[in-house]
Amino acid sequence: MPLIGAHVSTAGGLDLSLDRALEISADCTQIFLSPPQQWRTVDYDDEVVNKYLTKLEKINIGPNFVHGIYLINLASENPENLQKAIDWLIWSQKTCRKLHLTGTNFHLGSHKGNGFTSVQKLVEDNLAKILTNSPDDVDLILENSAGNAIGGKIIELGALIKNLKDRRLKVCIDTQHAFASGYDLRDKEGIKRLVDEIAQEIGIKNVVMIHTNDSKMELGSGRDRHENIGEGLIGKNGFELLLNHPQLKHLPFVLEVPGFSQTGPDQQNIDLLRSLVH
Ligand SMILES: [Zn+2]
Repeated sequence: MPLIGAHVSTAGGLDLSLDRALEISADCTQIFLSPPQQWRTVDYDDEVVNKYLTKLEKINIGPNFVHGIYLINLASENPENLQKAIDWLIWSQKTCRKLHLTGTNFHLGSHKGNGFTSVQKLVEDNLAKILTNSPDDVDLILENSAGNAIGGKIIELGALIKNLKDRRLKVCIDTQHAFASGYDLRDKEGIKRLVDEIAQEIGIKNVVMIHTNDSKMELGSGRDRHENIGEGLIGKNGFELLLNHPQLKHLPFVLEVPGFSQTGPDQQNIDLLRSLVH
């Protein structure tokens, strides 16, 4: 049975994310370490860290991931914002280590319509700076984008992985972003195309998580809008194929959906995914 997880809230305390996961029967989690629309970092003291670790040991779920803030753009032309992004990611990696989290998943940012190759070198230099200053046992996870940003094509993420040659550099595949970027996940052929590209360009072993979201937007739309499983344009059949795919089923499938009562990933989405596993 693949692990089915969810992005959960940390409101009221980091450790409460674990209670919320338990409430919706999630096998693993993703959390924000700081408000996603702000440049802030948070100084988590020993008490907060120990409370989280004690609960984690008791509840025993995982792997658990961090989702980076939305302001990060590793191709930014603004030196101040670039430095803030690098500093935030280094802080997040260090915090992951304290909290026994697998790593930070984040969006690389925008090439402002000029194409991946126009920013590739800059992005690689910035990733190298982050990795140099990060703990050696925490993954830095690049998420595929919905199409118009860096990482819309699997080959782009593959180029970064190949050039940096750092075993901590990993990839997360978001199903909604892949669909919006032109990978048709509604049937076997489309999924085969995606998996073959991942195997060739990135290596299946370098994928650590599948963000499991249906899509409000059309195939190839280039737009990032998540929908509940089965309510969107990918549909249940696509998720059934993904969950049971021999090369993917060992991965954690983590929900980032609006929820059936608009409160975020819920038990209903998790049950739905589990019902598709055979
Ligand atoms: Zn995602």
